[in-house]
Amino acid sequence: MLSNHLQNGMDTAKLMWSRLPKSEVEAEADGSTADEVGRYKKNDGIAVESLDYEVIENCAYRQEQAKRGKIYRAYTVLVKWILALLIGTGTALAAVFINISVENFAGWKYSLTFNIIQKSYFAGFLVYMLINLALVLSSAWIITQFAPAAAGSGIPEIKGYLNGIDTHGILLFRTLIGKIFGSIGSVGGGLALGKEGPLVHIGACIASLLGQGGSTKYHLRSRWLQIFTSERDRRDLVTCGCAAGVAAAFRAPVGGVLFALEEVTSWWRSQLMWRVFFTSAIVAVVVRSAMGWCKSGKCGHFGDGGFIIWDISGGQEDYSFQELLPMAVIGVIGGLLGALFNQLTYYIAYWRRNYLHKRGNRVKVVEVCIVSVITSVISFGLPLFKKCTPCPDTDANSGIECPRRPGMYGNYVNFYCGEKEYNDLATIFFNTQDDAIRNLFSAKTIHEFSAQSLLTFLVMFYSLAVVTFGTAVPAGQFVPGIMIGSTYGRLVGMFVVSFYQKLNIEEGTYALLGAASFLGGSMRMTVSLCVIMVEITNNLKLLPLIMLVLLISKAVGDAFNEGLYEEQARLRGIPLLESRPKYQMRNITAKEACGNQQVVYFPRVVKVMDVLSILKGNNHNGFPVIDHTRSGETLVIGLILRSHLLVLLQSKVDFQHSPLPFSSRDGPIPIRHNLTEFVKPVSSKGLSIHDIHLTPDDLEMYIDLAPFLNPSPYVVPEDMSLTKVYNLFRQLGLRHLLVVPHASRVVGMITRKDLLIEDNEDIAGVELQTTSV
Ligand code: ATP
Ligand code: MG
Repeated sequence: MLSNHLQNGMDTAKLMWSRLPKSEVEAEADGSTADEVGRYKKNDGIAVESLDYEVIENCAYRQEQAKRGKIYRAYTVLVKWILALLIGTGTALAAVFINISVENFAGWKYSLTFNIIQKSYFAGFLVYMLINLALVLSSAWIITQFAPAAAGSGIPEIKGYLNGIDTHGILLFRTLIGKIFGSIGSVGGGLALGKEGPLVHIGACIASLLGQGGSTKYHLRSRWLQIFTSERDRRDLVTCGCAAGVAAAFRAPVGGVLFALEEVTSWWRSQLMWRVFFTSAIVAVVVRSAMGWCKSGKCGHFGDGGFIIWDISGGQEDYSFQELLPMAVIGVIGGLLGALFNQLTYYIAYWRRNYLHKRGNRVKVVEVCIVSVITSVISFGLPLFKKCTPCPDTDANSGIECPRRPGMYGNYVNFYCGEKEYNDLATIFFNTQDDAIRNLFSAKTIHEFSAQSLLTFLVMFYSLAVVTFGTAVPAGQFVPGIMIGSTYGRLVGMFVVSFYQKLNIEEGTYALLGAASFLGGSMRMTVSLCVIMVEITNNLKLLPLIMLVLLISKAVGDAFNEGLYEEQARLRGIPLLESRPKYQMRNITAKEACGNQQVVYFPRVVKVMDVLSILKGNNHNGFPVIDHTRSGETLVIGLILRSHLLVLLQSKVDFQHSPLPFSSRDGPIPIRHNLTEFVKPVSSKGLSIHDIHLTPDDLEMYIDLAPFLNPSPYVVPEDMSLTKVYNLFRQLGLRHLLVVPHASRVVGMITRKDLLIEDNEDIAGVELQTTSV
């Protein structure tokens, strides 16, 4: 029986895991079979199962290992590095392609609109709105019709993948294509979202596809790359992909490595650090080269400023003690607004998933279109109410460009103003996000924006970002976060400038701190965000200040709720295992945690008919296999996976007429399967029980499971505390853990010294200190 502690501590977890019954009508509607209904916890179309990161040391694996010599091992290492190179190059090229496309679409859109508004504002607005609508519609169409798993940022799902949860569809080829083209539409269409989160997902998709040698469905597979038979290797590649995504999005290679380490991975090794670092470095080189190539005007509107890097060097060099207080205030505001953002987006996303989006794809598309029209109305309409501001005196070298003629856009947006004038609200609202941020971070002019404009923008953009988050388009939260944060940061900066007139204070510095504080308050990252902010602004001097605001904003945010990605993962039913167990687990034993479970197991030699009926009768993915000794004692000889049983049932080659187990006297166990046959493509549904077609004769046959089971599953004694179990499970990345009674015998004792084996040492020669009891 579950104890009270268990009730308190485990209820939430159990609730998350409880299978949601799905009606047959619903199943029919989305085309899923009855088996899938049971197998997957369906959550708004997303299927959730765990991944097998554990190495299954079955006979096929052992035989394959025995065949592998030094050359093969060297080849594996070489392929890993080649893949890291390809992941870096692929992600960087995808990022460049998205940036070029977005900048060009936005460039055409703004130049056309500016030309038309010289004649008619209404016609100008109509064109602006329709172009936005067309782009956003294309994105929503891709997501609803082609790649549903490409909606949102994808970071919660990738985080889940690296934590051991396979969300259906997230790493497929179609998701990759949907994410790339969907991001171009949604970002080019001017919605309040960014392309940075999607780039992390894109990097992960590229990595996963390369790891499995290409796409199975589209027959784009290379035999040479198909060497990874364990999920572990793919997990490492996906980690490289995530780092590459951030490195490409922000041109921040070190930030990418740290992002992978701090935010997305659950397991990290020093060897992996090397490869992740290498991938990020490749991204930096490829992006740099592509940028250099584009500088000569070969890429249309994508030019000097068309990639995130808001170089604010030359800004405030130093800071005084008095400034620390307003900077701390920025941290607090960031924590509060970030936590509010997480909470609001959680509620709205919850409502959407449970009510709105249940009504079908048409509703999703209409919703995105409404959001797009509202965004266009606000971004075009509000600047019309703003008075024009005279251009500041700028010297030729400052890099600040004030409109020389009406209708110009870029650094300062002219909008409807006359010559040598600009519209400050249009400069941030009616502009590409990159240019808007460059202006907000600008340290070269003071009072470029009026407080009223900044406040209007803050309220409007914050609301738009909250509403846009969770719609059926690819959407990142970094850039909207930077825009929101830099707006209130600049507002605080304006106040500080007027208060401490004698100090050399620049509003741009405060804008940067504001951006860091909002991201810290919402995403709750510290080290990686800090490095990313430094890398994108090229200003190392502000590092201590960024650290300060990040720490404050994270602490304030943590007092209210979880980080954005954790909240979203919870909402999507992704059961993340955090790094620390819950306190209550100390008082619960492994046996108590299992409750009154009736373990479903297989005997070593089992009738095909029984296998089929057991697999049909439950949804478990792992089954203990038991055998009996001559004296009649029961022995657990291993654990067999559902996916492996399905492969055996489908291939039929291992069926035997005799119910007797294979004996060593019959010679070596015949292995008729290649290890790769057991590998399921990532995030695809894999084999289902409905793919199995057996004749009545087949059903009467037997299978000996011994060669296919994992003979060494992890086991824990029944009275081990759940805290220890949790740590073991989490740190080893397990999927199944057997709970056993106290062992009756000990055959050996392993200590540190037994594990210190030299590279060339013959394992058989290592003497274990065994003590039979
Ligand atoms: P995952 O869902 O993580 O991929 P799984 O599908 O094997 O793993 P579930 O069937 O989802 O596991 O587990 C649901 C519940 O059933 C858990 O409480 C688990 O302890 C229990 N369970 C899992 N396997 C068995 C089994 N072979 N016999 C009895 N109970 C099991
Ligand atoms: Mg399951």
